Formats: sequence, structure tokens, C-alpha cells
Amino acid sequence: MVTAEKASREVEECRCLLQGMAKNLLDRLYGPGGPPWGTPFSCLEDVALRLADRLRKSFLDLALSRQADAFLQGCPNASCLCPSCGQPTLPRDCEPRLLFCRAATVEWQEPHRYCRKCRKAFFPQSRSLGIDQGHYSTSLLDLVCYAGANKPSFREASLDLGKIGNIAVHEKQVERLSKRIGAERLAERDEQVRRFLALPLAERCDAVPAGVQAPGMDQVAVIMADAGMMQLRDPAEQAASGGTAGPLCGDLPATTGEEAQQATSAARGAEGGATAAAASPENDDEPDEDDPDRDKPPSGRHWHEDKVGLVLTMRSPVQQSDPCPQIPETFLDADRVATIVRGLKKSAPLKEEETSATASAEEKEPEQADEEAAEYEGPKLEKRRVVASRQSWPLFGPMLASAAWLAGFATAPRKAFVADGARAIWRVWKTRFSSYVPILDFIHAMSYVYAAAKAVGEDVAAGWTLYAKWIVWVWQGKVNLVIEELQKWQEEHGRPEKGDAETSPRSVVNKTLGYLRNNQDKMKYDAYRQKGLPIVSSLVESMVKQISRRVKGTEKFWGEQGAEAILQLRADYLSDGDVMAGFWQRRQAAATGQRAYRSAA
Ligand SMILES: [Zn+2]
Repeated sequence: MVTAEKASREVEECRCLLQGMAKNLLDRLYGPGGPPWGTPFSCLEDVALRLADRLRKSFLDLALSRQADAFLQGCPNASCLCPSCGQPTLPRDCEPRLLFCRAATVEWQEPHRYCRKCRKAFFPQSRSLGIDQGHYSTSLLDLVCYAGANKPSFREASLDLGKIGNIAVHEKQVERLSKRIGAERLAERDEQVRRFLALPLAERCDAVPAGVQAPGMDQVAVIMADAGMMQLRDPAEQAASGGTAGPLCGDLPATTGEEAQQATSAARGAEGGATAAAASPENDDEPDEDDPDRDKPPSGRHWHEDKVGLVLTMRSPVQQSDPCPQIPETFLDADRVATIVRGLKKSAPLKEEETSATASAEEKEPEQADEEAAEYEGPKLEKRRVVASRQSWPLFGPMLASAAWLAGFATAPRKAFVADGARAIWRVWKTRFSSYVPILDFIHAMSYVYAAAKAVGEDVAAGWTLYAKWIVWVWQGKVNLVIEELQKWQEEHGRPEKGDAETSPRSVVNKTLGYLRNNQDKMKYDAYRQKGLPIVSSLVESMVKQISRRVKGTEKFWGEQGAEAILQLRADYLSDGDVMAGFWQRRQAAATGQRAYRSAA
């Protein structure tokens, strides 16, 4: 890739020439007096843009034609060997080539070779240029994918490309290209996971990939995980919209049956994809019936879970003692606590007003909680890598683990895993991250304690007094005291009986007791603060929200492959460090100049 630095050197080299050219153009159009008085600036700007457009096109058309001519005259042997079998190839007539790029729409006659043995066309110039046999340059693909993955819809992406980039790409084409590139990223991801799983255990646990800087003494390696919701079409509907399967080929807008081709290639890329996952006995994609913090899908069969994980490098000191033994005022402010608890999407079963399906289908996420919890200064975020997928938790675990390994977390001196109480996530911790300190999100703990206090208190004031006592205990790592009091209450009032409503005090206490007992070992908040570990999972919760902004909506229905591809791209673009820049470089280097087989159809 031509770096910006090199390109600007080249501009410097042509400075006088460019100035002379500008002067000549101006002379030709307006004479020495410049544009006539009264010419609106918009007209001048428009002329400048059009001249530049034309110059860019002429420059690139000519550059590629000359390069092609020089190649045809020399036909250097080494550049004519078949990329598949290494044998010499035969010359064929040049092919007219059309390339949409950010600078212009480039047209030239491209040298064309043919391997008789492989029966494959070969375009040495494409390989040398690092472009595929489609019609989009790398920089334009990046722009299209960026818009496709980050705008709320493909339509809006297309509109933005037109308005902001002055580039006309039909929304359907934005969708095709985004899904295709997403599928390529998925293939890379799956290969990475495969390589990670093949590593010897010692290396997986005690080594860092070459060239990666592991977190140091003043840093913390943090994993967070959570789930969002999106709507998928039924498999039958997906098949109907997919049509017959065939391999990937050209991407001219007019090509038909392309969705189907993409679906197949995406399926291949995703190592058997979700169909394999569904058949697997350890698949626990369906939420446990009684899993307290698992999202209950809104009514309607189309809602499914997507998983989001964060691989975070954070910075914090280790202290002699708990740096913040006093609970922040926020958690003792009745209005704010009520707001935070109401904002928690997963407190629905405890709260009557949130159990209606329509309410939970809307965005119900802890916007407030993010801000409020930030009052306690936990470790500072330095670098974030996002992992998102539709795969089941047992398959998501290795993905997250391989991303953590790539970040050099194996040798990190301090590691933490933060999540709500969802059991499926803690199974991932147990199988993949057991060397990480397990931490239950404090806000979730709070919402349970709050609900129990409200249920047990004789009136609002008494309930609040109980809450204020209990939440301080939780904050100080003494959840055992809360459990004791709740236990005593339960001994006096009994366990829930048949016919007790879910919101009855007995039910709420029972539920909270179970929750606190199950998570007791992940609630040593005083010790976590002393060690400089995070105690809230708000970062991953807001990430779920950011991803949902793209994929979730009552009007959005995804196919399984397309969903996975867009989740991958969205996660890539939301990660720190330019993940996609590395991908585009690898992709350019890997260009073969060959067309993939066309389907028989
Ligand atoms: Zn060959």
C-alpha cells in the first residue's frame, strides 16, 4: 500500500507541475482576470471538483494502461506462472477492466493469461496490484464495509456514501459487499481460533504471541461478556431467499443468484457455522429456564441471542487496602438507585412493569447505570478488542479465549472476568478463563438486593433502610451478612408456595437468596478494588447497545450467515487499533489474480 507519507512526497515532487497546470486551466477557462464578478463560489468549487475528477481518472487510466503495455512487451516469465500449479500460462486477449475506486472509475485493457492445466484465467496485473477480480478497489471496499457495518441499515449506508463520499453504491450492493468481506473476516477468525486450540497447553497458558506486548504490572487483563438480541428469519425463509447454492464469483451489480453464492461461501468460512452448533449436544444457546440474568426473548419466535465479548487492557494500581471502603453516594440515593435498577434489562422478572413483551422488545438497556456506576473510579481503559457472534456460548468461549491470547493475556499479572449472573457466561469462565478472578457485576448484585429489600420491608421507608444496610455490606464484600438476614427472614416466613406470584415477597427473597449464594464467590468487592480490578460490566453492556444499534430492530430480520458477517465487521470497526487495516493489507498480499470458479448455473 502506498503510505500517506510516500504519496505526499510524490505530490511534493510534482508541485511546480501542478501549479503550472492549475494556472493553465484557469487561463483557459477564465483568462487572466479570473472568473467573472458575480460567479457564485459553488460554481467555482464544482468546476474544481470536476477538473480534479477528470485528472484522477486520466492519471489512473493511463498509469494502468502503461503498466499493462510494458508487461505485454516483456511478459516476464516469473509473473506469468500459474498461481495454482506454478506452470507457465498462455497469453489470451486482453480483457476490458472496470474498477470503481475512491479516486475515479478506472478503465483499461488488462493482460489476460490462461492455465491449461488448471483451466483457470489468470490476471497477473490484478495480482500485482493486490486487487480481486471484482469491481471495487480496496479503499472503496473499506469505505463500503465501514458504512455497511456501522450505519443502522444498508439503505442508510448507501445514502451516506452518496451524500458524504459522493459515491453511488446501491444499498443491495452495500449489503453484498459487506457480507462478503465479513465472511472473509470470519474465515480468518475461525482459522485463528483453530490455531489457538491447536497450541500446546503450556503455550496457551504461559506464552505470548510473537510481537505482542503482554500487559505489565500496572495493567489489568479484563474479559467481559454479555448478550444482546436480534431477529433472525426462520431457516425455511432463509433457504427460500437463498435459492440454489453455488460458489462465489464476480460481483457485478447485475449478477443474479448472488445472495445464494454468498451464503454458501459464508457458511464454509464459518467452519460449519451455526448448523453444526445447533446439532452439538453441548450447545446451550437456548437460555436456561431459570437462569436469572439470561435475557428472556421478547414474544415472537424470531428473537435470538447474539454474544458480545470484550478483551480489555486496563490500567490501575494495586493498593495496600480498599481505596474506596465507603459506598459512593449514588448507591444510597433513592431516585438514582431506582433509575439504575429500572434501567437494568435483566431485572425484568423482579419488576412487574417490565414483563410486557412489547416493553422488552424495545431498547431497555442500562444507559443510566453506565453513568452512575462510573462514579467510582475503577481501572482506566487503554485498549479494547470486541468479539461478537451468533454462535452458542460453548463456541463463543474459544473465540473470546483466542482473542485474549492474541492480546498477550496469558502472562498478564492481573486478570479479571466480569459479567452478570448468567450461568452460560460463567460456564465460559470456568472452561476458558478459570485463571481470571471472577467478578459479578456490582449493579446486578445491587438490583437483586434492592428487590429483596423492597419485598421484605413493611413499607417503603423500611424497605429502603434495609436496602441501605445491605448494599453497604455488599459493597464492602460482606454479602454473607445479607444472606444470613435473608435466610432468617425465609425461616420465619417460609419458602415460596404453589400459587405465590413471582413478585410475592417469598418468591423474591428465594430468588435473591439463590442468586447471592450462587455468586457469593464473585462478590469480594473490597478485595477487587484493592487489587485494582473492575467491579462493573457497564463497558460490555454499552457495547451490546452499540452493536444492537446496527443489528437490532423490530423491522430487522437477518439470515444466519449475514448476521454473523455483520457482527464480525461491526466488532472489528468498534475495536481499538485499526483491525481492518491489517486485514486489507493481508488481503492485498494474498490476491491471486485468479477468478474463482464460476458456478455451472
Ligand atoms: Zn495452473
